[in-house]
Amino acid sequence: MNYRPYPFSWAPGAALRHATAVAEWRLREHVTTLCGEVVEPVNTTLAWLWPTCAPCDVEAHRIAGAPMPRRRAAGAR
Ligand SMILES: [Zn+2]
Repeated sequence: MNYRPYPFSWAPGAALRHATAVAEWRLREHVTTLCGEVVEPVNTTLAWLWPTCAPCDVEAHRIAGAPMPRRRAAGAR
């Protein structure tokens, strides 16, 4: 069983790291994401490093009850 402390899982698909409410997604099966897209999850090292889908990120933070991190201004360190 996967570590799943909140009712969502990350599901890389369509070149973004989406999140889904589906408890256990499977490869080669489509899954609906928190942003409403239907993607075929990919389980490769590069897929897990794809950029996070912004709407899924917001929804995952909402579900977890965690505030969104403040974005740094471009060029700020
Ligand atoms: Zn998404």
